[in-house]
Amino acid sequence: MDYEIVIGLEVHCQLLTETKIFCGCSTHFGNPPNQNSCPVCTGMPGALPVLNRKVVDFAVRAGLATACKITPNSVFARKNYFYPDLPKGYQISQFELPICIGGHLDIEVEGEKKRIGITRIHMEEDAGKLVHPEYEHGVSYVDYNRACVPLIEIVSEPDMRSSAEAVAYLKALREIVVYLGVCDGNMEEGSFRCDANISLRRWGAPEFGTRAELKNMNSFRNVQRAIEYEVERQRDILDGGGQVVQETRLWNVDRGVSMSMRGKEEAHDYRYFPDPDLLPVVVDEVWVEDVRQKLPELPAAKRQRLVDDYAIPVVDAEVLTADRAMADYFEAVVKLFAQPKAVANWIMVELMKLINEDKISITQCPITPQGLGDLLSLIDEGVISGKIGKQVFSQMYSSANNDPRQLIEDQGLAQMSDVGELAALVDDIVAANDGKVKEYQQGKVKLFGFFVGQVMKKTKGQANPQVVNRLLKEKIG
Ligand SMILES: [Zn+2]
Repeated sequence: MDYEIVIGLEVHCQLLTETKIFCGCSTHFGNPPNQNSCPVCTGMPGALPVLNRKVVDFAVRAGLATACKITPNSVFARKNYFYPDLPKGYQISQFELPICIGGHLDIEVEGEKKRIGITRIHMEEDAGKLVHPEYEHGVSYVDYNRACVPLIEIVSEPDMRSSAEAVAYLKALREIVVYLGVCDGNMEEGSFRCDANISLRRWGAPEFGTRAELKNMNSFRNVQRAIEYEVERQRDILDGGGQVVQETRLWNVDRGVSMSMRGKEEAHDYRYFPDPDLLPVVVDEVWVEDVRQKLPELPAAKRQRLVDDYAIPVVDAEVLTADRAMADYFEAVVKLFAQPKAVANWIMVELMKLINEDKISITQCPITPQGLGDLLSLIDEGVISGKIGKQVFSQMYSSANNDPRQLIEDQGLAQMSDVGELAALVDDIVAANDGKVKEYQQGKVKLFGFFVGQVMKKTKGQANPQVVNRLLKEKIG
């Protein structure tokens, strides 16, 4: 018996605000434990939360970028549960009235386009972190630096039917939130994390099967592996006549298996109710329009525009738009040197090689768009050959010198194109190789390369090959 796989994803994005969602504490990562804390984010009695306006801005931005409707009056709710890293005994989240509803995201898997529904996006606070040091057995610490750090949770419809679709959705979503500047998208550090709800049902069955929720997948590869493992686990249970239990399961990266963590709670277990300390969040049309005006061009649109405007291949556009700053760099160079395909090649081959080796981003690249544009112009004008150009390029990179013309002059790398000078050289070489000239003229045509080689040797590779070829042809026929 075969089954249809049904997957829905819940993605938590940590927002790139300077301060926390309900207090003025810093969100800076890596500070000493509990340095970023105050009575509000440690849940002291009587401390009152005040909403960070930037969080609303970011949530609306994410909502508009995923075609959601923005709720004019959304409400914060208390989600009650106990955990030592949650000192209030509840998490402030949104429940019945989230800030964004009813959007979608388009994905493509093996050439097939598909639209995945987005149920909702809501704002909430993160919890703190428990630390269990290996060297102190039986002792745990709690670090509240992360408590109250703002998150948005993006909940999809159960529209995905394979692990490949789930990964495509996550990649597209991650790319969007990074483009928007609302999240750094770092999966390993947990600022972009995903839970997957997975169930199987017999083909054609009207109802969904019982689902299990998977947590703790910190890379796209682990999402794929964990989903595939879970599908097989449920298939085995159903094939054996058993029933899948609704539960939360933790993916174990090292062992490549998932393990039951706890029975999955229903919403009513959390006793949600509107937080009496916070007013409804009113976002009027003016605010929404203001955010909409400031939205950057999104990755899919940018890809299409690069293909349309610059006539570069789709694969090139995909590589260049994987990072918004990279696409900006490409366009800045093309403004200076209007041969887009050549610019794309230099960026994808020479430049990416160097920055990947050094593990730096394009914004830290020592070669400016102006520097690369100038270099490409010098090659195009025949001042230097493409080969010497690569040499100059790596010098520009290592010395952060963005004046290729100066580098070329200082080292005397310019190509020799002066006909008079080269003609004199050709004359000398022909005169000194009388025997070879005769052999060539008697039909040993391969010897032509020998003469070109001699000129190149004398000029340290800087003679303009077209001019040399022409002069030699004239001289020895
Ligand atoms: Zn605080």
